[in-house]
Amino acid sequence: MIRKIEPNTRDRALPDYHLDKPREECGVVAVSGSPASAELAYLAMYALQHRGQESAGLVTVDEDGREKTYKGMGLVVDIFDDKILKEMYGTLAIGHVRYSTAGGSSLRNAQPLVVDYQDQPLALAHNGNLSNAVELRNRLSSEGAIFQTDSDSEAIVHLIARSRREDQDHKIDDALSQVVGAFSVVLCVGNTVYAARDPRGFRPLVLGRLGDAVIVTSETCALDIIGATYIRDVRPGEVLKIQDGSIEELRPLPPAEPSACLFELVYFARPDSQVWGCSVDGARRAFGRQLAHEHPADADCVLAVPDSSNSAALGFSEVSGLPFELALIRNHYVGRTFIHPTQAGRDFRVRVKYNPVRELVEGQRVVVVDDSLVRGTTSRGLVTLLRDTGAKEVHFRVASPPVRFPCYYGIDMPTREELIGSNHSVEEIRDHLEVDSLGYLSMEGMRGSVSDFGPFCDACWTGDYAAPLVDIERQKATEDS
Ligand code: AMP
Repeated sequence: MIRKIEPNTRDRALPDYHLDKPREECGVVAVSGSPASAELAYLAMYALQHRGQESAGLVTVDEDGREKTYKGMGLVVDIFDDKILKEMYGTLAIGHVRYSTAGGSSLRNAQPLVVDYQDQPLALAHNGNLSNAVELRNRLSSEGAIFQTDSDSEAIVHLIARSRREDQDHKIDDALSQVVGAFSVVLCVGNTVYAARDPRGFRPLVLGRLGDAVIVTSETCALDIIGATYIRDVRPGEVLKIQDGSIEELRPLPPAEPSACLFELVYFARPDSQVWGCSVDGARRAFGRQLAHEHPADADCVLAVPDSSNSAALGFSEVSGLPFELALIRNHYVGRTFIHPTQAGRDFRVRVKYNPVRELVEGQRVVVVDDSLVRGTTSRGLVTLLRDTGAKEVHFRVASPPVRFPCYYGIDMPTREELIGSNHSVEEIRDHLEVDSLGYLSMEGMRGSVSDFGPFCDACWTGDYAAPLVDIERQKATEDS
């Protein structure tokens, strides 16, 4: 049985996740100025599928301001077909892929959110979590707003609609100035697209061009798939207005210290993307190299937990001189909704997803490099699998520090209770995983590996939350009183 250690006093004072509202992971895209906007947005969403596999939605608006919307549960490739895309015409499209937890999993929460607004369609796609969503919702509800979804993002729509500012641009500025936390949003009002990032720039958003069309999307891999050219990142606090192929910079949001999510580089973004101006693959290799310096292992080979730790394992192999082996094979067709028969045993989830190549593992001393440990359940199952396959020794290396705090800005992380790094020492975790040795990349090592980029949000490792946790603090105050 794994014993729990008491968190220290400072840790105890930090909040845990106990708001009953969806935690969301998402990808967004807006296409402006292309007659093939629906197809382009569809392809971009397909490239962003890793950012959310639960639902996807697409909205198009034609020159006369007529909107078409199609949303569904599941994967982009299963939701849309040729017939649907052909019916979605117009030069403007907004797309969204979403994954959520905490009761937020239903079609009504799928985005883009679409409303009729002053005789025009307003469609909004949001990546990130707002840290004052509950406060805003309570206030707006008390003023008579009727909410149609559980999602944070709807507050932004209400704030735009209720703004008393004179024109559209100012109403959007007014709305975005009232939300706190993480937001990379693309939205349209009629034929005008707006794109904005919160002042700290937690989540990515990039700007690209394809001929006369302008594309705004979460990651550069979505530009690559449609052959668009990357122009630049949308800057933290920036609000862009895009119309007829032109990009106008509106008044930026009040500035704050930038705080780009470092977990995007560790796990979330695709390795073929450039995020924060940095190659994701390059960052992961650097983490792996540094990990090999910090925690060398006397072993025969290095293996990755595909696909998320491939780059880090290659970096580890490079510095350690140990050969990188494709010793774990991942089944790519599992999906989040795979039915797990109850009698199948506790490591069955892992066995469904991964299978070792026996010849590469049997009798070998292996180093497993993973990108992160969250609950510790995957790694525990993998170690059992490798031992059952005849591995002589298993050395586990993690290409990031122990995750100890929940994310409130748009990465789906469990509560402190469930985070293995939150309540256990490294030695206790080693014991729990039943590995011969365990080593995590240090915080300094991780920061040093990407020191040319940032500044970063590292709250899931340090508990230093950059944007005020308005809802959490309010709830804590209510519980304490
Ligand atoms: P576990 O420790 O069993 O919770 O699994 C950790 C593994 O899940 C990591 O190695 C990552 O590859 C992956 N992972 C990390 N964060 C997330 C997340 N927010 N959503 C889904 N998978 C994740």
